[in-house]
Amino acid sequence: MEEAVEFAKKHLGINNFNLGDDVEMANWVNEGLVQISNRFKGKAQMPKNVIFDEKYFAKNSDALAYHCAKNETIAINKAAFDGVYDKLNEFIKEGKIAAEKIRNNEPFTNLDLARSLLNKEVKYIDANHFAFKPLPYLDADLQASIVAKVDKFKQDPKMFSRFEVENIIMQIQDLAASGKRLFGEPLDIIKKIAEKNPDFFKTHCKELSHYENLPKKKQITACLKIMDELGDETGNLITVQGSHRGVSKFGVLWHEMGHLLHDMNTSVKDKLWGRLSGKAKKTFLADAEKLKTAGKISWYAEENPREFVAETFQALCAGRKLPDDVMKMYEYYKGPMLPNM
Ligand SMILES: [Zn+2]
Repeated sequence: MEEAVEFAKKHLGINNFNLGDDVEMANWVNEGLVQISNRFKGKAQMPKNVIFDEKYFAKNSDALAYHCAKNETIAINKAAFDGVYDKLNEFIKEGKIAAEKIRNNEPFTNLDLARSLLNKEVKYIDANHFAFKPLPYLDADLQASIVAKVDKFKQDPKMFSRFEVENIIMQIQDLAASGKRLFGEPLDIIKKIAEKNPDFFKTHCKELSHYENLPKKKQITACLKIMDELGDETGNLITVQGSHRGVSKFGVLWHEMGHLLHDMNTSVKDKLWGRLSGKAKKTFLADAEKLKTAGKISWYAEENPREFVAETFQALCAGRKLPDDVMKMYEYYKGPMLPNM
């Protein structure tokens, strides 16, 4: 631990690095921050304090971490990270029940749908290749990533660090969120398909107004049918959302650092009546174009401009190449810029 504290002080300039005797956590923070520093060619500001704030998290047990620009602090919820093995095991148990519900045509939630995936059988063809039946209509790559990891987790949970397990949980929650998009806003997806595949839409579908006038339940059925046909036509499964989330086991730390750097580099003026004010958030949420751009990053990036910035930041930390409109909007909201951007 002494070495980790020394490293944080010497190489990252962190004055108060206090993570108790949790050496694994200390190394995770140091490694994650070094990766940010490298991406920013040493120009990213680092926090002054990295701490556990047990008192705060006792009351906010769902949060994994928080940032505070005023004190230049990142705080980590140790209890939440310690609890991730139990949480994933709980998800796996719930997955069995969820699969049952879905089979019996009982009502199920989007989280049920995502967790039912954990109950799927995986057949290994060789060490690196495996087969499973993905849930229809949801991101197949994301599903494959989850299924492969959970299968290994079931055999030997000790193979995974807390941070890797947290990453799996985040991916499962993301899959649930994409289900919410599909079943919550089917018309949006139909419109998106029409816009991206005008020829297909003209030959295979009815006028948009027809779908607009359907009740929601029928919109869902129509949407699924269109997705099926488009899949047959192009051979591609439709991905309902961007998945620049859960990109790394450092995701939580990078997301929080994104907030911290963002807050440290924007003015009170920005926050009170500028681009990051409450009013600007309303504008953001009412602007379909802006939401579409944020949706290329993740469902969570659509929450508000601040989450959009933090989510984009963590994708940049992971080295993801992002579309131009995303980068433009990131700049507009004063997201922390990489030196070569
Ligand atoms: Zn956030």
